[in-house]
Amino acid sequence: MEKRELICIGCPMGCPLTVELENGEIVSVSGYTCKRGDVYARKEVTNPTRIVTSTVMVEGGRADMVSVKTKEDIPKDKIFACVKALKGITVKAPVHIGDVILKDVAGTGVDIVATKDV
Ligand code: SF4
Repeated sequence: MEKRELICIGCPMGCPLTVELENGEIVSVSGYTCKRGDVYARKEVTNPTRIVTSTVMVEGGRADMVSVKTKEDIPKDKIFACVKALKGITVKAPVHIGDVILKDVAGTGVDIVATKDV
């Protein structure tokens, strides 16, 4: 039986989670205080994903940078490619919250959107 120890990132309590696996299948999850911990542990072990936040340069705005994020979670192993794809991007002001800054980042099918007006 394989055991994976994780810390839940669902809230600041950071519950220590234990996932037991048998032949790659989840047998049990323990240590969570609420259902979100169970859901997080199962996803983290089988298909870990994250929202990525970053900034890109803005031309002609009140600020030089705008904060951006992936519209949805992307696979954890695509985070580096995502950050790399955002390097060197400059957008023209005005930029509005929710504007698509980059489509299909790193072939994930997920867009990068602005999280601020500039
Ligand atoms: S299991 Fe629930 S209470 Fe514990 S850290 Fe995760 S979200 Fe918070």
